[in-house]
Amino acid sequence: MDLHDLLVSRIRDVPDWPKAGVVFKDISPLLADHDAFTALVDAFAGQCGEARVDKVAGIEARGFILAAPVAYRAGAGFVPVRKQGKLPRATFAESYDLEYGSATLEVHQDAFAPGDRVLVIDDVLATGGTVAATVELVRRSGADVVGVSVLMELGFLGAAAKLAGRYPDLPIRSF
Ligand code: 5GP
Repeated sequence: MDLHDLLVSRIRDVPDWPKAGVVFKDISPLLADHDAFTALVDAFAGQCGEARVDKVAGIEARGFILAAPVAYRAGAGFVPVRKQGKLPRATFAESYDLEYGSATLEVHQDAFAPGDRVLVIDDVLATGGTVAATVELVRRSGADVVGVSVLMELGFLGAAAKLAGRYPDLPIRSF
């Protein structure tokens, strides 16, 4: 089985969660499968090596689970991008629109050194709002986002194309 098929086979659809009409992609079976989880972490880490990444930014909460072992494996640092109000020191904050209302992500102002090469990792790319806010946060820190890598994209929402329009030189990868 190739990597794509292996990963997809370990992600399950949960209809009507967190609300009616939404089909949630649950990655729990993938995380619980040593072979699939290791293959995924190794593949992300390979992307870090090619891009000579200094820091891996993981987005709360499932992005943490993926990005931390990738950073370890790739010999890079890990930076958590957190929901509002969780980080203890001075932060940059970026808000973005949700279907109803808005959300805010934060990163410590001293999390990145100027010129750091950063790979952003999350589990699922849906509308792209979360990833775009994270790209903005890293850039405001003076660091360079060298790529965005996610486990899977919900292709019917068209986020990768939208992000490619906004960030033409930024590789957006999924498996
Ligand atoms: P976006 O901002 O792209 O609309 O939403 C992406 C964020 O919401 C990611 O941080 C991701 O963890 C979460 N998310 C949205 N839909 C799903 C889903 O179906 N499955 C999982 N695992 N996460 C989702």
